[in-house]
Amino acid sequence: MKVIPIPCLKDNYAYLLVDDETGEAGVVDPSEAPPVEAAVKQAGVRLTAILNTHHHWDHTGGNKALLAAHPKLKVYGHASDRGRIDGQTDALQHGQEFTLGALRLRAMHNPGHTAGAVSYAAGDAVFTGDTMFAAGCGRLFEGTPEMMFASLCKVIGSLPRPTRVFFGHEYTENNLRFAAAVEPDNAAVQAKLTRVRALRASGGLTTPSTLEEEWATNPFMRFDSPTLRKQVQAADPGNDLSPVAILGAVRRMKDNFGVGSGPLTSVSLRV
Ligand SMILES: [Zn+2]
Repeated sequence: MKVIPIPCLKDNYAYLLVDDETGEAGVVDPSEAPPVEAAVKQAGVRLTAILNTHHHWDHTGGNKALLAAHPKLKVYGHASDRGRIDGQTDALQHGQEFTLGALRLRAMHNPGHTAGAVSYAAGDAVFTGDTMFAAGCGRLFEGTPEMMFASLCKVIGSLPRPTRVFFGHEYTENNLRFAAAVEPDNAAVQAKLTRVRALRASGGLTTPSTLEEEWATNPFMRFDSPTLRKQVQAADPGNDLSPVAILGAVRRMKDNFGVGSGPLTSVSLRV
């Protein structure tokens, strides 16, 4: 199994998931077709499937053009996204398994960012779209803190810690700046921020992360951290400090973080 990240649009990631045994490939979240076609050509694989994590245009924008060029493509998405994903052929339920060549894939329903968000698990990898980012999560457009907590910490979080996390946007550096602000004594956050700044300065990609790193650095999964709990209590004195209430408060803090002060504004408005 091979995973090839395909940078799309301004900061989106599509991914080519390749089954080495059969040469079949699926593309996760094709925002636009041309970079996907280029990656397919370069890898010398046969594109047979589109795997959409949710219906947003910056994750499905290339569906139509790819289908026009490859009419037999399977198009996977959650059952509740039927009618919102161009060309959807397969309506998945939570836990449903399917194959891509000789690879076994499993859909995990992850409501929170949208009602129909899914992650795809394959081997030691999971594709999380806008549910889990490196050190972040998507905004709660169609869901509640309860849903996002379950999606991040129970459903995706149930996967083994070495699992590689392939996420939907290159927001890692800004996310880690926020993580450092709400949990300043977290050495793993500081170390990763230093590493990521150097990587970005040289044009590198920060994908994938691992679940191990997310449990250590993602402020939406750090409900056990005494420092984070203190910060939440200071910002939101009525908070009962349950894991769900902490996630809700951290999400509100992130929504307002950096508003009016540069790049974080556009980040928090878009995701
Ligand atoms: Zn989205």
